[in-house]
Amino acid sequence: ALLITDECINCDVCEPECPNGAISEGDEIYVINPNACTECVGHYDTPQCIDVCPVDCIITNPSFIETKDDLYLKYQQLIKQT
Ligand code: SF4
Ligand code: SF4
Repeated sequence: ALLITDECINCDVCEPECPNGAISEGDEIYVINPNACTECVGHYDTPQCIDVCPVDCIITNPSFIETKDDLYLKYQQLIKQT
């Protein structure tokens, strides 16, 4: 999963781009729900939020290091729930 750092300027560009609805407005900056972020695996070749963020403040979440296989499994579980 990815993580938004405190460099975030709350521009709201990333939120509508997330295919998993994992991004929301937090108390101070935008936040990514790590349980819903597949790093866009299953939807796109690249993380859409990173592609659109004007200040490059989105990084890999050090507490949620996942392989492509892990992320694909998460993608499959998420689509089953919807
Ligand atoms: Fe959403 Fe993809 Fe960004 Fe994860 S990497 S928060 S799934 S847009
Ligand atoms: Fe924050 Fe970047 Fe998302 Fe804008 S696109 S809200 S700066 S994380």
